[in-house]
Amino acid sequence: MFRKAAGVVKAYTVFVDFPDVPAEGTPQERYREFFPAVPDYFAKSSYGKLRYESTPRFRWIRMAKPLAAYGIDRGVSFRPGYSAVSAEVDAAVGDGVDLSSYDLLNVLFTPNAGPPATEKVLSVTFGGTSFIWSRQTGDSAWRVLAHENAHAFGLPDLYGFQGYPPHPVGHWDPMDEDWGPTNDFMAWHKWKLGWLDREQVGCVSGPGVREFTLTPVSDAGGLKLVSVRLNDRWAINIEVRTKSELDPAVCRPGVLVSTVGVGVKSGAGPVRVFDARPGSGGCELADDVATELSDATYLPGQTFTGPGRSVAVQVLGVDGSGGHQGHQGYRVRVALGRQAVGGLPPAAR
Ligand SMILES: [Zn+2]
Repeated sequence: MFRKAAGVVKAYTVFVDFPDVPAEGTPQERYREFFPAVPDYFAKSSYGKLRYESTPRFRWIRMAKPLAAYGIDRGVSFRPGYSAVSAEVDAAVGDGVDLSSYDLLNVLFTPNAGPPATEKVLSVTFGGTSFIWSRQTGDSAWRVLAHENAHAFGLPDLYGFQGYPPHPVGHWDPMDEDWGPTNDFMAWHKWKLGWLDREQVGCVSGPGVREFTLTPVSDAGGLKLVSVRLNDRWAINIEVRTKSELDPAVCRPGVLVSTVGVGVKSGAGPVRVFDARPGSGGCELADDVATELSDATYLPGQTFTGPGRSVAVQVLGVDGSGGHQGHQGYRVRVALGRQAVGGLPPAAR
């Protein structure tokens, strides 16, 4: 059901307007809002593993009915509105193009249709088809398409739907916040998408103390993720985030500790970041983003203590030699077991 996220990923991209909301610009202009930014982003974030090829059809497809007739709103299901749009897109594309030969279909609506994205986000993905409405603000507004395509690849929403904490991950992954400054995917998501090799993931599943050297998630090469299994349901994930091209807004480089719950639904907080500085207000200066978790990282000398004191993550230090190809390596000591905290030796330095 999910689309592959590694190798050559072929997208077909179409442009849609309505009889009562005709397009004001050209399809080429709309296309340039997202391309080549989205393929470039996936290429860098995946360390070259995802090669995104988009074939645009540079003509506005005029829907048969006015916009309101499709009943589009946030949270609506595929039928009847989006299925009607899809049927009209299929008919307009015609038999000359075999849509089933593409991994993704991007439907870019004219940006003047519907409410501004700053007021109401309508963009949505069903199966391999991403429907993109309006425009986000900021210098990386194209990320709404990366976010929606990532749903097609199988990633859940990390922001909270109604009744859940709104931003349990904050700006550490575009599946929580795809607005504001650009941000890289968490190591857990890169693992799920098939962008990490087996030796780039460390697993801790039994009691004991182990040491690892992690390199920043945005840099190619080296160990990216240490996953500590707590029980059948929950794991603790450890990764390193530093300021980089894909993570320009990182204001406290360090070790990010989060938890992932097996079977926790999209929008119910499947991933949650632990805050090294709770209640600090954060350090990120960008507008419109949730700032509290922006300084959630642990720095050398600090120790994260997990639920029931059964797991501890001690950040030992940073060095160049322990990393990969000259990149910074963060040395961490992970202790798992009933006596994890008491049994943790003091930091080496
Ligand atoms: Zn989403």
